[in-house]
Amino acid sequence: MDFAYTNEDEAFRDELTAWLAKHLRPFLETWAGDDDAGDARSAAGVMRSMERRRAWQRTLAEGRWAAIHWPQAWGGRDATITQNVLYAEVMAAHRTPGIYNANGLWQIGPMILAWGTEEQKRRWIPNILHADDHWCQGFTEPDAGSDLANLRTTAIRDGDDYVLRGQKIWISSAHLAKWGLFLVRTDPTAIERGAKHEGITALIVDLEVDGVEIRPIRDIAGEEMFCEVFFDGARVPVAYRLGGEGQGWAVAMGTLGKERVGTAGLAIGMRSDLDAMISLARSTNPGALADPALRERIARAHIEIEYTKLLNYRALSKILKNQKNWPEVPLAKLQWSHLAQTLAELAIDLLGPAGMMAKGSDFAVDGGAWNRLYVFQRYTSIGAGTTEVQKNIIADRALKLPKR
Ligand SMILES: Cc1cc2nc3c(=O)[nH]c(=O)nc-3n(C[C@H](O)[C@H](O)[C@H](O)COP(=O)(O)OP(=O)(O)OC[C@H]3O[C@@H](n4cnc5c(N)ncnc54)[C@H](O)[C@@H]3O)c2cc1C
Repeated sequence: MDFAYTNEDEAFRDELTAWLAKHLRPFLETWAGDDDAGDARSAAGVMRSMERRRAWQRTLAEGRWAAIHWPQAWGGRDATITQNVLYAEVMAAHRTPGIYNANGLWQIGPMILAWGTEEQKRRWIPNILHADDHWCQGFTEPDAGSDLANLRTTAIRDGDDYVLRGQKIWISSAHLAKWGLFLVRTDPTAIERGAKHEGITALIVDLEVDGVEIRPIRDIAGEEMFCEVFFDGARVPVAYRLGGEGQGWAVAMGTLGKERVGTAGLAIGMRSDLDAMISLARSTNPGALADPALRERIARAHIEIEYTKLLNYRALSKILKNQKNWPEVPLAKLQWSHLAQTLAELAIDLLGPAGMMAKGSDFAVDGGAWNRLYVFQRYTSIGAGTTEVQKNIIADRALKLPKR
C-alpha cells in the first residue's frame, strides 16, 4: 500500500478538522454535565445519553459528516476506505461523542442502499441519517450465533404480510429501537434439506407492532443494553423485505463485511485511549508512572498500537484491492480485541485503587468510565466474530492446517 495521502485525502482531513474546530466545542458546552455513557444503569440516564447522541448525529448530518461512506445523493460523501480511516483517526483524536444510530449508519443503511427499492430508500435512509428513529440489527438466536445460518425464527407468508415466530438474543439496544433489520427463515425446510444458507430472508421490522416482545438482559457492567426479542405472530408487510425472498444470507454478509471494516477503524481510537489514561494517571495516581513494570507495559502497548495500525492498513489495502481478506482481516480483528482488553487492564492498573471504582462512587475516576471499560471490553472477543472462529479462519484458509 502507498502510505502517502493524496491531495484529496489531505483536503478531506483538513475540512473535517476545521469543521470540528467550529462545531465540537459548542456542542460539548451545550451538553456539559451529560457524559457519553450517561448513567446507563437508570432508564433516565440511558434516555439522556441517547438524546445527546441523537443531537450529535444530527449536528454531524448537517455538516454531511455522519455517513461519509454513503453516496452524496443520500447525504454522504462517497468516501474512500482511506478517507474512512482518516475520519476514524480524526474523530478518535478529538474524542468525539457517540452517535445515535451506529448500527444504522454503518451496517443497515449501506444494506438498504445496496438492496432496497427506491421507495424503501426514500422511506428509511433519511430516517437513519437524521436519527429520527433508533435502529437495531437482529441476527443472533440462542442456537445461531457463530453458526448464524442455523437461525430458525420463521416468517411465513400470509397475503401481503409475513407472520413471525421465534426468538432472537443479544440484540443491542432493541428496547430503544423503533426499527430493526432481522434475518428470518422463510423456508423452514432448508435446514432439514442440508441447505441452511438458503431460505433466509432479510426483513425490516417495526418493533412497535403486536406480537413483538423485547426483554433487556443485564450485562457484566450492570447495564441493560442488549435484549432478547420474541416474535409471536408479529405481522411484517412483504413491502418491508430487503432483497428477494431467500436472499437474506447475501444481504447479511454485506452487513458483516461493513462491521469488519468498522472494527478496523475502532483500533485507531486506541492511541487516544492510551494518551488519555497516561494523562489521567499523571493527575490522579502519578506514582504509577514511575513503576518500571507499568512503564514497560505502557511501552509495549505503544508498540502494539503502532503495529496494529499497520496491520489495519494492510487489511484495508486488501479490501481496497478486492483481494482475499485473510489472514490480515481476521488477524486485525483478533489484534483489536486483544489490544482493547490489554489497554482496559492497563488503565485500571495505572489509575490505582480509584480506577476500580464504578460510577456513583465518590472516588470514581472520570465518572467510573475506566471501570466500565474494564468489564465491558470482554465483549470484543465475542462481537464481530469470536476469537476462536477468527483463529479457525486463519488456521483453515491462511495456514491451511489439516482438519481433524
Ligand atoms: C456486546 C454484544 C452485542 C451484540 N449485539 C448484537 C446485535 O446487535 N445483533 C445480533 O444479532 N447479535 C449481537 N450480538 C451477538 C453476537 O453476534 C454473538 O454473541 C456472536 O456471534 C457469538 O455467538 P454466540 O453468543 O451464540 O456464541 P457461540 O457461537 O455459541 O459460541 C460460544 C463459544 O464457542 C466458540 N465456538 C463457536 N463455534 C466454534 C467453532 N466452530 N470452533 C471453535 N469454537 C467455536 C465461540 O468462540 C465461543 O467461545 C452481540 C454480542 C455481544 C457480546
